Amino acid sequence: MKEFSGKTVFSGVAFGKIRLLLKPDLGVDTSPASDPEAEKNAFRKAIRQADRELSDLFEKTREEVGEDEAMIVDVQRMMLQDEDFIEAVDGFISGEANRAALAVDRAGRQFFELFSALDDPYMKARAPDIADISRRLTAILLGVSGSFSLSEPSIVAADDLTPSDTLSLDKKLIRAFVTRGGSTNSHSAILARILKIPSIVQADIPLDAETLDNRDGAVDGHAGKFYLEPEDALRARLAGQQEQDRAGEAALEAMRGKETVTKDGKKIELAANIGGVEDIAAVLAGDAEGIGLFRSEFLYLGRKTCPGEEEQFNAYRAAAEAMKGRRVVIRTLDIGADKQAAYFDLKAEENPALGLRAIRLCFRMPEIFKTQLRAIYRASAFGKIAIMFPMITSLWELRRCKEFAGEARKELAGEGIAAGEVELGIMIETPAAAICSAELAGEADFFSVGTNDLTQYTLALDRQNADLEPFLDTRHPALLALLATVAENAHRAGIWAGICGELASDPEMTERFLSMGYDELSVSPGFILGMRKRIRDTDLSAAGKERT
Ligand code: PEP
Ligand code: MG
Repeated sequence: MKEFSGKTVFSGVAFGKIRLLLKPDLGVDTSPASDPEAEKNAFRKAIRQADRELSDLFEKTREEVGEDEAMIVDVQRMMLQDEDFIEAVDGFISGEANRAALAVDRAGRQFFELFSALDDPYMKARAPDIADISRRLTAILLGVSGSFSLSEPSIVAADDLTPSDTLSLDKKLIRAFVTRGGSTNSHSAILARILKIPSIVQADIPLDAETLDNRDGAVDGHAGKFYLEPEDALRARLAGQQEQDRAGEAALEAMRGKETVTKDGKKIELAANIGGVEDIAAVLAGDAEGIGLFRSEFLYLGRKTCPGEEEQFNAYRAAAEAMKGRRVVIRTLDIGADKQAAYFDLKAEENPALGLRAIRLCFRMPEIFKTQLRAIYRASAFGKIAIMFPMITSLWELRRCKEFAGEARKELAGEGIAAGEVELGIMIETPAAAICSAELAGEADFFSVGTNDLTQYTLALDRQNADLEPFLDTRHPALLALLATVAENAHRAGIWAGICGELASDPEMTERFLSMGYDELSVSPGFILGMRKRIRDTDLSAAGKERT
């Protein structure tokens, strides 16, 4: 028996024959191209063919897995038309006399590196999509087939799996994934979680067919372990774990479609946090009742210029339409501090977390703020959208934000463009906002507490600094007192209050938050069913009075 370790993407246990999927080397021709125009035409033709292939894969995924999951393919179809990428390929063809396949390969690597080097884990995880698209285009240009298939139920081992590799495999035959590369936030990882396939990435496996292919294997997703030729004692232990997982899974699945209500009848809205349109599939698969936090700044990161009104409108509209009348809370741009985009050209700051970020930056760059607000209002005609302003500390800031929103709305009306009813709320993530929440509640339509920042600012504890972990006390009486004040002041003014920071998904805090009166919790899509169970198991009448 041999044991290998990696990072868990989806925990669970699997047994089966190992199938090692290795990609052939495409062997790109490096000799100079004699006719650059012909190469550019071949590239355009390859884009059209790749689009057709992805459209077929979209249909296959929609039929075999589901409409929401097929959106992963749609994202690649959108990326295929990216003007920067097309320009870069054309540049290699005309500037360096590269053949189209080599130009695609070089541009693909360049973009892959660019995305891989980004700090933001979400943007970083888009790099495999770029590699996927450029490999598909290169294979088309070279006239080779790049897809994998399985003939029996298998543990799939690979160097890395692109989203389209994963989607083109027969899902019924995949027992588990074990890859040497990959990130826990990639589309393949998201898909593995949606399909509930035990998966491990960054595993130290040998990519050697003789060692792995067709041998017996076992995956323990809980421990991030992969075993080659597992011993009987280990098999027995893992089989027991598998039984336990199935029982737990059945209990969670039973929560799907159920009302989120406590034992004593208090109805709670259980929403999901997302970073972009790509996460909507997971939101729907997770059975969320809305989107409680759309971190819109992700649209602005990992690129050279700000997204325009049209691009943003498309993203917000996609979210609004997908949620079919359920509320989508879009947080306006929260850039600065730990989320930086070079093109904003911000000065280095001594204390970025206390610096020019979020609405402070938006007030300095009114055009950017206005563009975003116009895009959101336009999207509001296609679903139920709410706008949430981040990093509020004072009433004048909320009033200024509302003025901006009012102007954007008025401008659109003047242009004859429709908008829906839009609630205007704020994040409570500074102690100042929590303490002044009575005043703020008089002019906001809702509150959502950002416990990540509220903890940081209340405890004077940099959320980015792992060395401060021993001081991080999410039960600190000061934090709990602020949380209680916020809910109380919201209700006094007749508005709803939610929590969208990470603490919202801490099951040990659920009873306390609900006792405080919170109406909404917004958590990662994968936590929805577990939280619903937690809430349905809570009896507030038995919990007694709120403890702060
Ligand atoms: C928070 O501060 O709790 C929050 C939800 O916002 P972010 O983590 O994006 O700062
Ligand atoms: Mg925050």
